[in-house]
Formats: sequence, C-alpha cells, structure tokens
Amino acid sequence: MDWCIAQSIKEVFVGDVGTVSQGTKKKQKLRRRERQKISNWNVGQQVRYLTYKLQAQGIAVTKVNEAYSTQTCPVCHQRHKPKGRMYRCRCGYVSHRDTHGAKNILSEQLYGMFTPIEENNLTYLRVA
Ligand SMILES: [Zn+2]
Repeated sequence: MDWCIAQSIKEVFVGDVGTVSQGTKKKQKLRRRERQKISNWNVGQQVRYLTYKLQAQGIAVTKVNEAYSTQTCPVCHQRHKPKGRMYRCRCGYVSHRDTHGAKNILSEQLYGMFTPIEENNLTYLRVA
C-alpha cells in the first residue's frame, strides 16, 4: 500500500486479531478512503487483503499470535486482561490498549520478548 511504500517499509507484522504494526520513523495513518474500504470486512478478510497488497509490493508479512500480546505487561511480564481502552499494570506501566498490543507484537519480533518500545518509533494500524 502507498503508505508503506512511501516509508520504505520492508516488513509488516500482522496480529491474528487484526492489529498491524511496523517500526518506522514517524506515525502515519492509513488514508481515509482505504480505511473505509476495509472497515466493513471481517478481520480475516482484512488480514488477507493487507497481506496480498503488501506482498504484491515485495513487503514481507509475518503473522503473529496475539494471544498474549494484549495481556502481557512488557515491563514486568505479568499477564492480565486490560479493562476498558487503557492497559494498566500494577507496576505502573500504562498504555492505550491497541498500541500496547501492537508494541508487544513488534518487540517480540525484534527482540524475541515483550519489552517496552518508544511510541515515537512506531507506526500502528488498527484494522479490526
Ligand atoms: Zn507491569
């Protein structure tokens, strides 16, 4: 997709509940028209569409199991389900629920474990 190509993204991580994240220099949102087009689809269709579009441009797509990414604190690695829109941990870690999961997915791919990631270096896209 144009927004990926424009940023020379080489690899995209797709979570199995539809969260997409990639490491880039700045935040950028999916163009509105594109977003509306896929907003009526179910998550499986959206992931297949994204995968197809990205692979057609030579961008690697890696599927990631999200089972724990939305529940695990990247700081102390305790697991609990987020309540509401924010993920809060007893250790003091707080993040928006969607970016929290996306950051965990990315950090697991980059470092092999959940670890806190600077949000300034992250572009995330919620398609679910
Ligand atoms: Zn914690």
